[in-house]
Amino acid sequence: MTMLDPWTLWAVLTVVVALLAAGMLFVWWLTPSEPSLAHWVISLLLFIVGVLGGIFRAELPYVVGVGLANACFIAAYAQLWSGLRRFDGRPVPLLLDWIAPAAWVVLILVPPFSETPEARVALISVMIAGMTLLALEQLWRGGLRASKARMALFVALAVAMVMNLLRIPYLHAQIRDDRVELFNSPEMAWFGLLGIALGILTCFSVVLMVRERAEQQYRQAAERDELTGLLNRRGFMQQAVGAAAAGGPLAVMFLDLDHFKQINDRFGHAAGDSVLVLFARVLRDNVRAGDVIGRVGGEEFVVLLPGADDATARLAAERVQRGLKEAAISLHMGGEGAPVECTASIGLAIAALPAAGSAPVLEGRLRILMDRADAVLYRAKSGGRNRIEVVRVEPITTG
Ligand code: GH3
Ligand code: MG
Ligand code: MG
Repeated sequence: MTMLDPWTLWAVLTVVVALLAAGMLFVWWLTPSEPSLAHWVISLLLFIVGVLGGIFRAELPYVVGVGLANACFIAAYAQLWSGLRRFDGRPVPLLLDWIAPAAWVVLILVPPFSETPEARVALISVMIAGMTLLALEQLWRGGLRASKARMALFVALAVAMVMNLLRIPYLHAQIRDDRVELFNSPEMAWFGLLGIALGILTCFSVVLMVRERAEQQYRQAAERDELTGLLNRRGFMQQAVGAAAAGGPLAVMFLDLDHFKQINDRFGHAAGDSVLVLFARVLRDNVRAGDVIGRVGGEEFVVLLPGADDATARLAAERVQRGLKEAAISLHMGGEGAPVECTASIGLAIAALPAAGSAPVLEGRLRILMDRADAVLYRAKSGGRNRIEVVRVEPITTG
């Protein structure tokens, strides 16, 4: 098998791992907020040391060339696992990462591992397979369905684990001059090449996982209002369409703080902001879990109440008004001691939506309801503020 001579394969392996490490470092530099990347960079650096140890094994003392070099491989897999734990927000037991590599260094000093290369190959294959199994378990635990990148990584690692265990029956092929050589037979050469390919796939999947998460965070940021943490108009519409998909009775509540400009004028913009945050909390505390709350303007909010009829919606609106009144008592601004008057006017549009339509049709119907709620909100304003006005919208006709 002249095409796959061991030295060429070692050279390919070295170049590939060095490129992967450089690539991972680059990704870490681009995404410093993702600490799991630090583990994966360390993992690849350990891998490089392991590969160099493998190349120069003949010139190195046994404890270094066999002991430390292979300990680096085991530690590299442990770092892969730790990175996955950190990625999923689980605690990372730092010491645990180094137990298996340390155990390897100790074990190869005692029989049978100190005596027979076969025993050593079996031991390291089992240890690496064990580390890989831990990584697989972490991937599984974090959920595979939601992420294609996770799934790809799972498959790559599962194949790598099986390959590692398959090395054991091929022991005879790996041993020459009482030494274990990774690439010294055609079978092992192909194993090695497949291993390199899986290494590339692993790094690729890991980077995709990081990217997937970053995208998720951008998307979330694009749908949320930074000040109150509520959904913004875009996020509200998206979730409202989902929540209203089943059809049936529902209510849209439009809320606008009364004379809010005066709060800003008297106490400053920061005080106004804290009232907005307070009002967002009042809303959260006074609607049901399935209701969708959004901040759709400066001091304008909207709540979708799926399943709510006339009476339920009115009760919810009254709860919000009471909640705001109570919360406002705690507001002492500008050191004047007097509680700040803080009320909201509310417009309610009640309807029964026809069962499911396409998302654009549903969105059109919701927009009609929002417009109607907005219209009666202004009736509440002109009627003296701090009031609730209700309109029944029936039937909703739209394209
Ligand atoms: P009305 O009772 O008729 O609703 O009167 P209003 O003063 O509440 O309404 P108006 O529309 O005249 O003023 C709304 C004010 O809300 C004006 C704007 O400066 C303020 N505002 C909008 N967004 C923010 C914000 O993010 N923070 C603060 N502090 N103020 C905001
Ligand atoms: Mg207002
Ligand atoms: Mg307004």
